[in-house]
Amino acid sequence: MLTGSCHCGAVRIQVTRKPRRLTSCNCSICRRHGGLWGYYEPSKVTITARRADIDRYAWGDKRLWLCRCAICGCVTHWRPARRSMNRMGVNFRNFDPSVIETTRIRRLDGAKTWKFLD
Ligand SMILES: [Zn+2]
Repeated sequence: MLTGSCHCGAVRIQVTRKPRRLTSCNCSICRRHGGLWGYYEPSKVTITARRADIDRYAWGDKRLWLCRCAICGCVTHWRPARRSMNRMGVNFRNFDPSVIETTRIRRLDGAKTWKFLD
């Protein structure tokens, strides 16, 4: 079990295991907030927060919600807007830096081709 949290601690994130890789994406939103994504089935992730402490944002085709702490502003995760999508993203910038240091990071061209650039 790995636990991370936003800067102020209002949003806690637990995952069952380390991600096999992290993804750095250059799409219009990821390139702005600079998150490093680990992907999981939603059943493998526990988000603990008061409902009012999570702000969410959707854009474009509104297939996912980008979630951030309403107090300190850290982007913590994204989750699908529809239940049929069995995948969510966890921003490992909110975890101990040793996780990032020991995990391969791949650069995804989410802006154009949806292929890896490395
Ligand atoms: Zn916070």
